[in-house]
Amino acid sequence: MTDRDGNVKVQLGQMKSLGEDAGKEETDPEEEMPASSPSASPDPSSCITSTGTDASVCKQRGEKSSKDSSGKPLQGVAVPAYAVKNFNSPVCEQTLHIKGTGKILQGKSQSNGNYLGLHESRNTQETRCEDGCKLPRKRRPVTVDTSKAKTSLEALKISIKELKWKEFPLGRRAACDIYWHGVSFHDNENIVSGQVNKFPGMVEMLRKINLSRAVRTMQDLFPEEYDFYPRSWILPEEYQQFSAQIRMAKESDTSVSPTFIVKPDGGSQGDGIYLIRDPSDLKLMVGSQPKQAVVQEYINKPLLIDKLKFDIRLYVLIKSLEPLEIYIAKEGLTRFCTEPYQEPCQKNLTHVFMHLTNYSLNVHSGNFVHSDSQSTGSKRTLSSVLYRLAVKGVDIKRVWSDIIALVIKSVIAVVPELKVYYQADIPPGKPGPTCFQILGFDILLMKNLKPVLLEVNSNPSMRIEHEQEVAPGVFQYVPSPVDEQVKVGVIRDTLRLMDPCNKKSTASGSSQGEEIQVDGEQQGRCPDNSGNLPPLCLKQVYPKYTKQFNHLRLVERIAALFIRFLGVKGNMRLGPTAFRTFIRTCKLSNSNFTMASVDILYIDITRRWSCALPDSREAGMGLQAFLEAFFYLAARRFKSLMLREQVVSLLELCEAHLGPQSGSEDRRQCLNHSFMSPSYPSFAVPLDHHSEHMFSLDAYYQSRSP
Ligand code: ADP
Repeated sequence: MTDRDGNVKVQLGQMKSLGEDAGKEETDPEEEMPASSPSASPDPSSCITSTGTDASVCKQRGEKSSKDSSGKPLQGVAVPAYAVKNFNSPVCEQTLHIKGTGKILQGKSQSNGNYLGLHESRNTQETRCEDGCKLPRKRRPVTVDTSKAKTSLEALKISIKELKWKEFPLGRRAACDIYWHGVSFHDNENIVSGQVNKFPGMVEMLRKINLSRAVRTMQDLFPEEYDFYPRSWILPEEYQQFSAQIRMAKESDTSVSPTFIVKPDGGSQGDGIYLIRDPSDLKLMVGSQPKQAVVQEYINKPLLIDKLKFDIRLYVLIKSLEPLEIYIAKEGLTRFCTEPYQEPCQKNLTHVFMHLTNYSLNVHSGNFVHSDSQSTGSKRTLSSVLYRLAVKGVDIKRVWSDIIALVIKSVIAVVPELKVYYQADIPPGKPGPTCFQILGFDILLMKNLKPVLLEVNSNPSMRIEHEQEVAPGVFQYVPSPVDEQVKVGVIRDTLRLMDPCNKKSTASGSSQGEEIQVDGEQQGRCPDNSGNLPPLCLKQVYPKYTKQFNHLRLVERIAALFIRFLGVKGNMRLGPTAFRTFIRTCKLSNSNFTMASVDILYIDITRRWSCALPDSREAGMGLQAFLEAFFYLAARRFKSLMLREQVVSLLELCEAHLGPQSGSEDRRQCLNHSFMSPSYPSFAVPLDHHSEHMFSLDAYYQSRSP
């Protein structure tokens, strides 16, 4: 073995160990242990304060710092849960014994953004014999409704079997613990408890336009941190800017001839994607309708293996939004093109097998190589590719660390709007399920090894078969060992992490609103079958790396203001009165910026956004529009500062004016007024009387165009 081989092994070993700690925290190696043995039993009186919605007592007991021990980006090792565990602290799920029944009712503190009502505990692992002695009872298996699982069904079935859980392929009249949906949260509308594997709004948020907008906002605030997303323009609304900027770039340097990739909004599997070198080549219309799309800088120097372009499919679990918990699968897939790569030129722009890595396209190329081996063929495991790079001397630890950073930053970009969707579908205080979701990140490595985000899939394919041409032109699905190895691991370990019995108690309230971890295993609670299972393939990266990324969660704080003033639960748009209330409560108007100007600002921004989002049914100001108004107000008030400082200053000002109690007050005020209310005064204000205001707003927009 050469030194280099030795190094590679060490590096891969270190990479693997990056995730082992998470596994250790989450799994319970013990078999069938009665949870209610006296020493391990939660003390209900110490945990329950009312009807099961106040976790404050538990919170204090279970609290621990989630700080990393090192300040270096992603090199820091979080204090593992087992190092600070408190074996005597009570389980923080709130429990209430029902006299005479031996049953335990169980409530859940606010977690994942909503409350769960009381329900019969699954964790009752004791029964009583006639003389009152306790007999251990076998744990009831976790129940999973798979009736809506669609193409992920095969991998899901295998996972459930491995976990010895119970599958309900046709659904179940009684509630299940977990609902597995194939497409969206709304696949099944009647879920009031348990956990669903989709977040409301995720499909919408991750469409190409919305993702680009969310990342753009972050690029405006943190340009250096968000340089992993190619420069993008939204069509049709930014066509003029796009054309003008490309023209200017070409004029200033005639040797420049950039290439762009055009992706239809909501498209997938490479459908409708094409490359262009000139804005005049854009196909702007579908029939008489303008085409919604993103046009993006084409990364023309990708890293090649075997002269082929490839991309990485990485699976990421969002375990919870509140508190934010992100896990990354240590193993992923790489998808290879099937025609040797050349930098784009007019002649090869249409060569999809050279430029697009989509499996669904390349599988139809005569050069596609199906292989049962992980390290050859047109679809390989990520680890086999990293190994290969490591052999060549690439610092794969650095690459992996950059990928983790990209994932955390991308999730931080979409969380604010997801929270708006979440509160609309599952208002706090109402019964409803909690959510988690596996996302598919598509990442390209540039020649210089920098990872670039291509897109995030809300519905990554979980198929474990692949299409194979069994006779000329005849395709059939055949088992794909590479897919099975990766995807079953991801689904199984997601289920293990979501096991309601192993669920960690969570409560917000630490200085950064992060999770206070209490390890289920250490509390002597329901063990899973992990004794027979491999270590978790999912590695926790957030809150583990909170320290390095928490400063980026600025827009979330603005979204919190927005949600606070939404008023009617279930809303996603701010009405004019609510916007006025926001301005008044935060004391943002004065003689230079009157309430009439506020109304004009509201009308102007809302009107522009309703044109940008023509399919939106709700009237009013959405989060994106509110952000624009907020940035405008910040720029007006703190002229001398840079954008980020302007926004931070305004946020601090607003937050200082909003005491912790004022939210409900604001909501009540807003509830009394609806959009288009006759009392809304701005309709009495002719727009052209405020041309001065409009002028400054225009200037502001121009200064912020991409
Ligand atoms: P889809 O959802 O249709 O798969 P993607 O955004 O993933 O759309 O793009 C499809 C493929 O196009 C990617 O897998 C990648 O190979 C290529 N691609 C996408 N964006 C870029 C880019 N900015 N630069 C270079 N290649 C890209």
